[in-house]
Amino acid sequence: MLIFDISEYIFSWQCLFCFVALAVLFNLRKNESFAGLAFLLTGGLLSVATVFLARDDQILYSFGLGYDFVTFVKLVLVLLMSVLWISAAAKFYNNQSSNLAAIGFYFTFGLIVCVYYSFFNKEQEGANTIVSIITNSGLLLLSCGVFLRFAKNKNSGNFLLFIVILLLITQSLLTNLLFKNFAQTANFLNWLWLYIFPFASMLIKQNSQSTELKKNHKVIDTLNLQINNMIDSSPFPIVLAKITGDKLLLINTPAASLLGISKKEVSFHKLKDFFVDEANRQKFFNLLEKQHEVQDFDIMVCDLINATPFWLSVSAKTIEYNNEIALYMAFQDVTMRKQREDGLQAQADKDPLTMAWNRRYFEKLVPENIKECIRKSQNFSLLLLDADKFKNINDTYGHKLGDKVLIELADICRTSLRTDDIVARFGGEEFVVFLNNTDTDSALKVAERLRQNIENTSVDDDNGNAVRFTVSIGVVSSEKTSSLDILLRQVDDAMYLAKKRGRNQVALYDEEDAKVFLNKKTKHREANVHPIFQNEENEEISLLDNYDSKIL
Ligand code: GH3
Ligand code: MG
Ligand code: MG
Repeated sequence: MLIFDISEYIFSWQCLFCFVALAVLFNLRKNESFAGLAFLLTGGLLSVATVFLARDDQILYSFGLGYDFVTFVKLVLVLLMSVLWISAAAKFYNNQSSNLAAIGFYFTFGLIVCVYYSFFNKEQEGANTIVSIITNSGLLLLSCGVFLRFAKNKNSGNFLLFIVILLLITQSLLTNLLFKNFAQTANFLNWLWLYIFPFASMLIKQNSQSTELKKNHKVIDTLNLQINNMIDSSPFPIVLAKITGDKLLLINTPAASLLGISKKEVSFHKLKDFFVDEANRQKFFNLLEKQHEVQDFDIMVCDLINATPFWLSVSAKTIEYNNEIALYMAFQDVTMRKQREDGLQAQADKDPLTMAWNRRYFEKLVPENIKECIRKSQNFSLLLLDADKFKNINDTYGHKLGDKVLIELADICRTSLRTDDIVARFGGEEFVVFLNNTDTDSALKVAERLRQNIENTSVDDDNGNAVRFTVSIGVVSSEKTSSLDILLRQVDDAMYLAKKRGRNQVALYDEEDAKVFLNKKTKHREANVHPIFQNEENEEISLLDNYDSKIL
C-alpha cells in the first residue's frame, strides 16, 4: 500500500480546476474540438482517480465493498478512462461522427473482461495485465486518432496534441513496465502531462479556430464560385464591382460586349470610366448609399471601343463578395426607349412649327440659367423679337408664307446665336432670346446682328418672288435686376419702343422712355392684351394652321 500524500490531493484539485476552466473556455465557442477535448479531459481525470485508488483502495473498502468489487471498480474506471480516450480520438479524427458501435463493442468486451478478472479469475497478475492492455489500447487508439488528425491537418496544435499523447504512452509504459515500484517517478510524469495538458488544449482550441477559419474561407470560396457561375451564365449583362476603390471584379460576356471590354482585363477598369454624365453617376451612387439597392435607374454610359454613348437601365444591389462590399449590377439596353422618350419630350417642349423652345419650356429653363449666371457673377440679357407688320405678310401672301417666315426667323436666330443661348417662340410672331453671360453692349451687338441677318433674308412665295421681312428687337440686361418677370416686362417695353421708333430696329430698355408708354401699356395690360394687338381684334390662330403636316 502506498503512503497517503496530501499534496497529491491538492494537485488533483488543481487539475480539476484546470479541467473545469478549460471546459468553460471551450464551451464559450462550440467548435469541433470541444467534444473531443471534453472526452480527453474526463479520461485524464479518471486516470488520476485510478492512480489514487490504486494507491489507496481503503476508500473503496470503507464503503463496505469486498475485494472482488474493489478490483471491479478499479478495472471499470480504467476501462471508462480508455473509452473516453477512444471517443476523444474518434472526435479528433472525425468530428462529424464518432463510431459509437465500435466504441460500444470495445466497452462491452472490456466490461466482460473486467467482470471475469474481478469475480472469476482473481489472479492479481491477470488484473494488472488487463489494466495494462486496456490503458495501452486506449492510449494507442487515442494516439492513432490524434496522429491521423495531425496527418490531415499539420499544424502546431495537432502536433502538440500528438506529443502529449506520446508522453501519456511513455508514462504508461514507464509506470507499468519499468518504474512499477518507483511511485515518485510515476507521480512526476503524472504531474508533468497534466500540466502540459491545459497548454496543449489552448493550442488545440486555437488550431480548431484556424481550422474553422479555413473552413469559412472554403465556404466563401464556394459561394464566390457560385456567384461567378451565376453571373457568367446569365443571358443579361451583369457586372460585379468593388465599391471601395471602384474596381470591376467580374463581368459576364453580354456585359463585356456591351461595354466594349475584354473579360480578362476586367480588373483594369473602373465603373467611373463608363459613366458619361457625372451628375447622373453621382445621383446613382447617392441613391445606392441611401437604400443599398437601386431599381431601373437609367444611366448614360459609353462603350470603350466606339465611345458611343447609350442608355442602360440598371438594377443594382450591394452584396458581400470575398469579405468585401461589392456592387451587383444587372443592365438592360434602353437606348431605343430613351430616344423615343427624348423625342416625345422634345415634342412637348418645342414649338412644332419653328422647332424653337415653347414658352413653357423657356420659363422652366431660363430660371436655372439665371441662377447659374448669378452664381458665376455674370450678366445675362433678354431679346424680344417681333415681326414687323406681320399681319400684312399674312394678308398679302397668305398664312402659309407667314409660317415660312416664322420658320426662317427661328432658323436665323439659331444660326446667329451661340448654342447655350435659348431661343423660344413666345407668341404668334414673337420670339424671346436668353443670352447667357452677356452684358448690355454685347446684347445690343447681338441684337443688331440678328436684325441685319433677318433684314437680309427673304423667303420665296409661290411664284418664286422673294418676300422680305424685318423685326423690331427689344433688349434688356440684368445689370439692374435679375428678376425674370421684371426683365420680360422691360424687354417688352423696349420692343414696343423699337416699334414706335419706326420698326426694323433695336431698342434698349430705358426707364425714362418706358415711362412715356407706361399709361398706355398699363391700360392694355389690364385688359391682358399685348400693346401690339391694340388696334385689332384679338385673332386666335392655331400654331398648326396651314402648316404642312408632312413637316411635322
Ligand atoms: P407690328 O409690326 O406692330 O408687330 O405689326 P404686326 O402686324 O406684326 O402685329 P400684329 O400683332 O397686328 O399681327 C400679328 C400677326 O401675326 C397676327 C397673326 O395673324 C399673325 N400670326 C400669329 N401667329 C401666326 C402663325 O402661327 N402663323 C402665321 N402665318 N401668322 C401668325
Ligand atoms: Mg406681336
Ligand atoms: Mg408684329
